[in-house]
Amino acid sequence: MKNIRNFCIIAHIDHGKSTLADRLLQATGTISDRDMQNQALDSMDLERERGITIKSHAIQMDYEKDGEKYTLNLIDTPGHVDFSYEVSRSIAACEGALLIVDASQGIEAQTISNLYLALENDLEIIPILNKMDLPGAEPEEVTDQIVELIGCDPSDVIPASGKTGLGVDEILAAILSRIPAPKGDPDGPLQAMVFDSVFNPFRGIIAYYRIMNGSLKKGEKILFLNTGEDYHADEIGILKMTPQPRDIVKTGDVGYIISGIKNAKEVKVGETITTFDNPCLTAVKGFEDVKPMVFAGIYPVDTDDFEELRYSMEKLQLNDSSLVFEPESSAALGFGFRCGFLGMLHMEIIQERLEREFNMTVITTVPNVSYYCYTRKNPTDKQIVNNPSDLPDPSTIETIEEPYIKAQVITKSEYVGQVMTLCVEKRGELQNQIYLTQDRVEITFKMPMAEIVFDFYDRLKSVSRGYASFDYHPIGYQASDLVKLDILLNHEQVDALSALVHRSNAFELGKKICLKLKELIPRQQFEIPIQASIGAKVIARETIKALRKDVTAKCYGGDISRKRKLLEKQKEGKKRMRQVGRVEVPQEAFLAVLKLN
Ligand code: GDP
Ligand code: MG
Repeated sequence: MKNIRNFCIIAHIDHGKSTLADRLLQATGTISDRDMQNQALDSMDLERERGITIKSHAIQMDYEKDGEKYTLNLIDTPGHVDFSYEVSRSIAACEGALLIVDASQGIEAQTISNLYLALENDLEIIPILNKMDLPGAEPEEVTDQIVELIGCDPSDVIPASGKTGLGVDEILAAILSRIPAPKGDPDGPLQAMVFDSVFNPFRGIIAYYRIMNGSLKKGEKILFLNTGEDYHADEIGILKMTPQPRDIVKTGDVGYIISGIKNAKEVKVGETITTFDNPCLTAVKGFEDVKPMVFAGIYPVDTDDFEELRYSMEKLQLNDSSLVFEPESSAALGFGFRCGFLGMLHMEIIQERLEREFNMTVITTVPNVSYYCYTRKNPTDKQIVNNPSDLPDPSTIETIEEPYIKAQVITKSEYVGQVMTLCVEKRGELQNQIYLTQDRVEITFKMPMAEIVFDFYDRLKSVSRGYASFDYHPIGYQASDLVKLDILLNHEQVDALSALVHRSNAFELGKKICLKLKELIPRQQFEIPIQASIGAKVIARETIKALRKDVTAKCYGGDISRKRKLLEKQKEGKKRMRQVGRVEVPQEAFLAVLKLN
């Protein structure tokens, strides 16, 4: 145990975690130079292509120094706020953290939020100044920021480069000398914390855990403390580039277990594994059910594909327990699912995986947050509204509450003004403003979560010319003056386009949506009025002029096969169209609200 080191790598997105992990894997001979590919730990295609880590990964490295053999367990974590719960569990499995800061960018929002998570778990922090090879690196300035932030000595900061390999030996030496060996009682009852699980189509769920106390033997009957379910440890082992089966995994170590579990829902991150016969008394602290924050409808483009979509979503859920969904129907879109996601990135990932891994073409509706609604008749009865169309009749509503977040923005001081203006426009309330250095400012806001679901992030990047980073944490619900904005096409309400918006924004938003829809919906044989309304009151209107031309007309008397081709082309085009009453609506129109200027 005294020669084990468990550590994670934390950083703001793109500061070079995965690349530096690659260098450590190479330096310890865990992966040969021949097998090396970039971001070796990012195993999903999607992770590689997007260059982001979605799941946590663990890997064991052997390292020898001064005749002593060490076992280093590295846990690579996803840095994105959508997955912060996974980050926090991974952190809890470690004694130390490499805090990577890009020397050309400096400290960013997720550097700070991940650092706080690490400090809360009493981890030893090894600060690393990465990307020193870049001409734009500002080592003195960024070292100052780091020293200021964590209160270390400037000489503790290790200059490094994941690209050139600079600093890798120093980092390995620091891991051995500065990070404490795991504690825990090797002879006590088994207490292991699950920090991640992956789905394997042949083996079922493979759970990753860190053993806090005791040991786990192959074949043992085990108990999940939080769910109370028991299983058999069919296969256990440690994680190298491929899983290595073992007969026993001991205190302080990081390992995997396969126990015939087929569904990710059964193994949640934060779960405690113990033995059935001699269970530990307490669970590892910090188990929570992760709650979806953003909801949207997902519908098959082809209405006949509903069952196939259900099958695909179920399969995806086996793999990703944070995805929730239930069937819903929409007058405009037919049968589909209302899905809950951890955040906007998670939603994009699910959509992309449906298309890639399951070949599904889907229509996603405008995302919304989850609202609490109280009616006058039953003011203590909280109704959870995950779809604006499900809102009770507005005349019966007493209050609607919406989720709020604490938003933290870090930017260059020259952009503070623009960032403030944006946040206020997004109904934000300034809470705090701290100068991290002379020209870097951290601004904290309280803001409705709904506002970041729309175009907040893109706007923030554009007003700060890319020099702002952003992170947020939910802080509970608060009553708001919200109204349901409906959209009518040819006098028919399109349920999939309804949104709950703040009363002060309704008029402007209604106008913009009508304009955008006018742009997106092709002209048809008749005139189409587009209206935005609150209840029975129309607040904006646009009209799509009628079209009179028949596209096949010019083929009359001509080549029949050409005519057929044209018709087929039209049909192809129609696949992504939805009939709403008499109006054909292209798929993009259902996301029009997201694309307003
Ligand atoms: P992560 O999001 O923190 O895992 O970051 P990645 O390891 O995926 O790196 C983000 C980008 O920065 C990639 O394009 C890397 O090639 C690049 N990168 C990472 N480390 C270095 C470095 O030390 N020097 C330079 N020049 N580029 C780097
Ligand atoms: Mg990465």
